[in-house]
Amino acid sequence: MENVYDVVVVGSGPAGLTAGLYAGRARMKTLVLEKEKAGGQIVTTEEIENYPGSVKDPTGPSLIARMVEQVESFGVERVTDTINDVELEGKIKVLKGENGEYKAKSVIVATGAKPRLLGAPGEKELTGKGVSYCATCDGAFFEDFEVYSIGGGDTAVEESLFLSKFARKVTIVHRRDELRAAKSIQEKAFNNDKIDFIWNSEVKEVKGDGIVEGMVLRNRETGEETEIKADEEDGTFGIFVFIGYIPQTELFKGKITLDERGYIPTDDNMKTNIDGVFAAGDCRVKSLRQVVTATADGAIAATQAEKYIEHNFSE
Ligand code: NAP
Repeated sequence: MENVYDVVVVGSGPAGLTAGLYAGRARMKTLVLEKEKAGGQIVTTEEIENYPGSVKDPTGPSLIARMVEQVESFGVERVTDTINDVELEGKIKVLKGENGEYKAKSVIVATGAKPRLLGAPGEKELTGKGVSYCATCDGAFFEDFEVYSIGGGDTAVEESLFLSKFARKVTIVHRRDELRAAKSIQEKAFNNDKIDFIWNSEVKEVKGDGIVEGMVLRNRETGEETEIKADEEDGTFGIFVFIGYIPQTELFKGKITLDERGYIPTDDNMKTNIDGVFAAGDCRVKSLRQVVTATADGAIAATQAEKYIEHNFSE
């Protein structure tokens, strides 16, 4: 089976690269497929201070560059291609891309999830420069600053409670006049002196030159626009966007079981409902989506893929 990989990993964020590292180190013929460039969400993260050992040059791009170098040192192939179709039921799995077809004895899905964006002008340019989608990642950078949390669901309110440990003041900006979050979480926020609310409002624009300096809100009832400017001494404030996530699993709809939100359920060994298909990282149903949990998933998935191949392909 010359052109059949032992493992094809779809996705090259921390979960995919770690799966590649473990598979390559186990001397399995391994391919890591990446859609655009390696890295996933963390290449837009300015500083990663919560990944163990990430002390010197702790930026997202630098961590990914080191992961890529390590993966390549074990002979793992990396190909840039967009997969449009998959056949996963058979013993040999087939992945059909724009540039070619890839066959594998096992597949590890590590396609990640993307935060839903506001779609406001300035948002993309200032991501990692005041605009964030992750309180666990970036909250500590706003020690004693003001921050605004956008959204009214469980994530927005829970993460605002977390941010209130660092920030001088947290203002939740919600597009309606009542929160969607569970009542128990709401109560905690209403009882927190540091948390304030702006109702019926959406972000119309994020302003700043290299760093967030202001934000224009539009009241959805009155149409009135208000510009919030950074405190002069602070020079900036945080905008944390929590309006939901989108798992990148569209390709696998109808091919492997997904939950109602599109995430992939697995067991503790990262196995999906299809034999020989594993999932790792943010695309999976899990409670904490972080680099450290993604890399752990990747390691487990690759180790399990090796066991699966041993059991099912040894002559
Ligand atoms: P979510 O429940 O879908 O809430 C998204 C929030 O963002 C909603 O308040 C929504 O407003 C708002 N929103 C959506 N699009 C927007 C836009 N374009 N502009 C402004 N606001 C927008 O997402 P989530 O809070 O991330 O939670 C996802 C799931 O995880 C939920 O099922 C949640 O229960 C669960 N979760 C549970 C916990 C927990 O149990 N501890 C913690 C976190 C998450 P509307 O309300 O007007 O629709």
